[in-house]
Amino acid sequence: MPRYHVKITGKDYDAMADLVRKYQVNVARHTVEKLDGGYRVDAHADGRKLRTLEAAGYKIERYEDVDKEGKKRQKEVRKVTKKAVTAEALAVATSAHYLNVVEVEKALATVADPPNGAFTKLIKLPNKTWENRVCNALKIGKGTGSNRPAIYFLGGVHAREWGSPDILIDFAQRLTNAYRTNSGITIGSNNFTAAQIKKIVETKDTYVFPQANPDGRNFSMTTDAMWRKNRRPAPAGHPQASCVGVDINRNYDFLWNYPTYFNASSPIANSTNPCDYQTYIGPKAVSEPETKNAVWLFDQFSNIRYFIDVHSYSEDILYSWGDDENQATNPSMNFQNGAFNGKRGIAGDTAYKEYLTTADKNTAVNLANKMQAAIKNVRGRVYKVEQAMSLYPTAGTSDDYAFSRHLTNSQKAKIYSYTIEWGSPSNPTPFHPAYPEMQKIIQEITSALVGFCIAAT
Ligand SMILES: [Zn+2]
Repeated sequence: MPRYHVKITGKDYDAMADLVRKYQVNVARHTVEKLDGGYRVDAHADGRKLRTLEAAGYKIERYEDVDKEGKKRQKEVRKVTKKAVTAEALAVATSAHYLNVVEVEKALATVADPPNGAFTKLIKLPNKTWENRVCNALKIGKGTGSNRPAIYFLGGVHAREWGSPDILIDFAQRLTNAYRTNSGITIGSNNFTAAQIKKIVETKDTYVFPQANPDGRNFSMTTDAMWRKNRRPAPAGHPQASCVGVDINRNYDFLWNYPTYFNASSPIANSTNPCDYQTYIGPKAVSEPETKNAVWLFDQFSNIRYFIDVHSYSEDILYSWGDDENQATNPSMNFQNGAFNGKRGIAGDTAYKEYLTTADKNTAVNLANKMQAAIKNVRGRVYKVEQAMSLYPTAGTSDDYAFSRHLTNSQKAKIYSYTIEWGSPSNPTPFHPAYPEMQKIIQEITSALVGFCIAAT
């Protein structure tokens, strides 16, 4: 059954909410456009579902067959082999194709090689994946000190979003090359000076965990290009292919058991069904080795003050919160207050909104604006800076978990947290665009991350 990249138009809020709560359509949550006669959203669905939606009154604009196009993208990725890859082949800025899962780890290790040894360190994550892969993160930073803030970049959580590891490897390669050679970084009309680069490396720690879900990414690159989850074996008695895996970015300990916390009619983009192709939350919070690894870095490095999870797509920079709209007037209306259970997750109502102080919102937006400006300087694309909550709320995501840590435990530091959704909905196969387009996106997001490291203090 072929699957298509589509735009779906519905007549009102309920029609759009039903796409998720009734039809389980995979919508790009932040592409909702308000039209004269309703709303339109970018999405993916198979032919049968599209016919059902058309019969129910939705208007469908159909683009590429994502499986057919995905096969083409898969052919462009080098096969995983035992053969050694040269350092030049691992340089993302001059590469002609996505790094495969082995190449990402190799490229990360190469960044930590002796020429950069004085200011980098490879960090082996403690939990092997379901398919026994070992993941590594990289620390970039020279010097120590108690007032040294750390910044944490995560990527490769969703299997099909192939470009995020490439982005983070490119960032690490450019930052370390520039520091080692006492030079600046120029991308488009961004000119980050040698002095700015030196300040990042010598006064801050940067942690880069580029490929959190290598099992899923490998499966997407070789078998099912649209795969999103990890590769946890399917529960007994569920032989279907879709029953494998957990959505890592629904598995964090933030309102994880969402049916307790959310309004039953909320169009939340989460599922308790192990056979849900997209957003199964897992058997318990932080059940997955990939989630545990991502959390381990927060626990291990208590000076982390900033966090960015790199995803695709829709050209957005998202700040807290994702479970409901923000409010700054009632501190007791918050995710920890059981009195609001069953009320969360409806856009546009007043029964529940998540608490975020005006000061925190301003800090979050100001830093997001720096990233937006750096992205625009590459080729003029303007990413939207907006709250993670859209018409469609979420629970169990990394960004809300990261920002909630200081609220659930006052011993922990406040971590300003973001999700970047790179890439335009108008790209064919937007989760893994053809590499010439991906190269432009890599330049944009690397610029955003360098700009962020300069601005975050
Ligand atoms: Zn994602």
